[in-house]
Amino acid sequence: MNKLRELWLRFLFGTKEQSVEKGKIIFAKKLEKLLGLCPVCQGSFQNHKFSNFAIVALDEDQASRLEKLFVVLRQHLWDEAFKIRAFNPMSDAAVAHALFCPSGCLCWIVTKDPYELEDNIVIIEYEVLDIEQSLVLNQMINETDWAVFP
Ligand SMILES: [Zn+2]
Repeated sequence: MNKLRELWLRFLFGTKEQSVEKGKIIFAKKLEKLLGLCPVCQGSFQNHKFSNFAIVALDEDQASRLEKLFVVLRQHLWDEAFKIRAFNPMSDAAVAHALFCPSGCLCWIVTKDPYELEDNIVIIEYEVLDIEQSLVLNQMINETDWAVFP
């Protein structure tokens, strides 16, 4: 695992003391609690997966970056979205996640993730994609980048 990728995973899923795997489980549980049911199939999160593909640090430069993130997500400009990786390990962040539903459709979800892992995350916006856009987004995510809901 290269250094930048390790930093990215650690920032998203856990601090030095908490392993990435443990961080993913904590995050999945928080997301499940926030959403209640899968926004795609209205069922439980069994056999569902999630991944992260964009991040904007919520620091002093956040306004234009956040605006860009929402523009590209709403317009389904995935190439552009995957380039938005402005993270600052010392600040809160807006993170774009992909939720994979076994029904075949994906959903993007932007959350506000706190710097402190123990603090609550907040859902800012999400959109259930149609099958066509779901396939496109799914193709852009490496199989190993998905985390399964516990
Ligand atoms: Zn579902």
